[in-house]
Amino acid sequence: MQKKDIKSMTLAELEQELVLLQEPHFRAKQIFEWMHAKRARGFSEMTNISKALRERLAEQYEYTDLPAVEELTSAIDGTKKFLFRLHDGNVVESVWMRYQHGNSVCISSQAGCRMGCMFCASTLGGLVRNLTASEMLDQVYQIGRLTGERVSNVVVMGVGEPLDNYDALLRFLFLVSDEKGLNISQRNITVSTCGLVDQMKRLAGEHLQITLALSLHAPDQEKRLRLMPVAKRYDIHEVVEACRDYFDCTGRRITFEYALIDGVNDSPEDARTLAKLVGSLNCHVNLIPVNPVKERGWKRPAHEKTAVFKELLEKSGIAVTVRREMGKDINGACGQLRNLRQHSAAQTE
Ligand code: SAH
Repeated sequence: MQKKDIKSMTLAELEQELVLLQEPHFRAKQIFEWMHAKRARGFSEMTNISKALRERLAEQYEYTDLPAVEELTSAIDGTKKFLFRLHDGNVVESVWMRYQHGNSVCISSQAGCRMGCMFCASTLGGLVRNLTASEMLDQVYQIGRLTGERVSNVVVMGVGEPLDNYDALLRFLFLVSDEKGLNISQRNITVSTCGLVDQMKRLAGEHLQITLALSLHAPDQEKRLRLMPVAKRYDIHEVVEACRDYFDCTGRRITFEYALIDGVNDSPEDARTLAKLVGSLNCHVNLIPVNPVKERGWKRPAHEKTAVFKELLEKSGIAVTVRREMGKDINGACGQLRNLRQHSAAQTE
């Protein structure tokens, strides 16, 4: 029988489990705090729980504790990249970034991805499997422990499409923001999606205070289709309307991510079309000069072209930032390190 994943359980669920074990109610809270506030690495650390109960717990439940198999630190900006091993041998990558307003952790939501975006390294090998909530959480916990610093922001922008793993994502969001756990404010959490409209609507209905980032990457349907297969499923206008609904339901300003690719989506005409598309929304556009991925062959535009693009959007009254590149020397872009390691593992097999 497969053991139950105790670290993915809410406090209410844990309380039910302890009833079955004929333990008093308050034990659930103790165990929950050991897992999520004190971030214990296993049942053996739970010193106010009897040895007998700890042994029973270990027999019945799986305790997620991801070992870091690699840690790289950027000599340029101190950004760190971690590779964690899952119990089935898969690896996931996570990034730690230091900003003026606090430390941010970027986590993966799936091992691989099936969305097929043409510029992205994470999708090259397809989807292997969804991560559990505890596997998402533990990336944050381990990074807090390994850096010895407080994590104040979490972005779900690593490998995978979070809304393609909806239930585990929601569980993760509740647990990471639980006041009896790590207690990260929902306002400091961002979830990035390629635009799965049905799940975006569902998410809006949850009335969370998280920020939704939408990977737009094109000013019109035709260009988006060339870059993102998901555009076949949902028209660009439908996606933008789902963003409007998200704002209406939650009051949270939308972030549009737009990877600038030389000669593909970076002309002044593209900027003007984009301004018309999103101009009436309460939003912010984050321009990302594309990270070249060896297998893809796209290039980033010259600085001047990026500056013109930004200025045109600003002239239309849109808030714009150009993403500062972090961890350039350590394969900072999502999926790159995982791919590298998987390839070299395959070669040595
Ligand atoms: N699947 C989610 C989150 C993961 S990717 C999504 O699509 O939003 C996080 C962001 O990085 C997305 O905006 C994605 O489109 C972008 N991205 C992926 N590969 C990139 C590359 N080579 N250069 C720049 N941005 C890239």
